[in-house]
Amino acid sequence: MGNSEHKAGFVNIIGLPNAGKSTLLNALMGEKMAIITPKPQTTRHRIIGILNEDNYQIVFSDTPGIVKPHNKLHEKMMSFVRGSLQDADIFIYLIDFFNQEIDEEIIEKIKELKRPLFIAINKIDKADANEVGQYKNKLTSDFPCAFVETISAKDEIGTAELIEKIVELLPHHAAFYPKDDSLSDRSMRFFVSEIIREKIFLNYRDEIPYATEVFIENYVEKEDIVVINAVIFVERETQKAILIGNNGKAIKKVGIESRKDIEEFIGSKVFLELVVKVSKNWRQDDQQLDRFGYKIN
Ligand code: GDP
Ligand code: MG
Repeated sequence: MGNSEHKAGFVNIIGLPNAGKSTLLNALMGEKMAIITPKPQTTRHRIIGILNEDNYQIVFSDTPGIVKPHNKLHEKMMSFVRGSLQDADIFIYLIDFFNQEIDEEIIEKIKELKRPLFIAINKIDKADANEVGQYKNKLTSDFPCAFVETISAKDEIGTAELIEKIVELLPHHAAFYPKDDSLSDRSMRFFVSEIIREKIFLNYRDEIPYATEVFIENYVEKEDIVVINAVIFVERETQKAILIGNNGKAIKKVGIESRKDIEEFIGSKVFLELVVKVSKNWRQDDQQLDRFGYKIN
């Protein structure tokens, strides 16, 4: 097929924390790629999913939720959000039907860029169809520049249609990434650290998940097993004690849950070692942030 018929472009999913962006990315990709938890701000990096079909390539990215910066980590997270505005061809602004808050500043910026914008009302699986219809009408008149859609990322309602409409608007372009079956430009290490981080978000409360970073020290593929050594960094000794728990019970649970998901994800038996270390105030330390991959490029 000639390149003139081929379409390719970058589609960015944005929205407030908890809108369902990571769930939508997974639904669009049809594969578990981004981590999903009920807590906000679990997505710190941009996560890219590449959807390849014969006649198109869509590069999706999920961004950290839009937040007001309170510390250096937040500042870096927001720089990813801003960066994602520049290089996208099409935007999906996702709204949780049950939290109808809109960041109008971001919508305004997209309007200035003159790029197609979908406003997708999410979680309609739990909502009253009439109320959803009314809200859709309201958004259609409030934002005449946008295409308003209603979806359930979780139950994959309206998501295939969303892909079809995106493909219609996609620019004619050759593929940006090789069209083999690699799903993402992120390494296995990245996904492994995201899976471990997801388990930490699910198993601990309050500030613990936010004070935590996972660093994969070793990822070694042996004949019939992958050996992974991961370090979980926290900011203080007290947090380390909570993370480990009585007789190491808590961290053991995280290890077991993580290993199961990692094995499923990479399709191989895994030996996973978790070590907890203190890295004093890493969220305020530029050098540490660089090391953990929060680099601005
Ligand atoms: P993000 O912060 O925008 O990436 O949101 P997530 O994808 O992590 O989802 C946040 C929460 O909303 C999770 O508990 C999801 O299971 C839930 N969620 C996402 N999409 C839907 C949906 O379509 N319907 C329902 N009922 N829940 C959803
Ligand atoms: Mg997310």
